[in-house]
Amino acid sequence: MRPKVDPKRWASSVWFEGSVPKHAFNMWITHLDRLPTRSRLACWGIPTSVDCCFCGRETETMDHLFVRCRFSTQNLVLRSSENCSNTGSFPVLARDPLSDK
Ligand SMILES: [Zn+2]
Repeated sequence: MRPKVDPKRWASSVWFEGSVPKHAFNMWITHLDRLPTRSRLACWGIPTSVDCCFCGRETETMDHLFVRCRFSTQNLVLRSSENCSNTGSFPVLARDPLSDK
């Protein structure tokens, strides 16, 4: 059995009525720094490139994907907190990353 811990301050921004379960799950593992980024997969012994899947210029870490990646910063649009509560979503792609246009 695990010991009971205090709720995290960010819990209400992740788990709220009307949230989209897959978005809430992704936000939850992001807050816990458990996203399966390529650098983490490589640490687990999974044979994969550690280069960012979007830009290919740096190691794919959570910080890189959400803060430093040139592609992410140019192509992801963060909705306002008001819109997030309406849709339950968080970043949305301004364009399809797989499209050449
Ligand atoms: Zn990148």
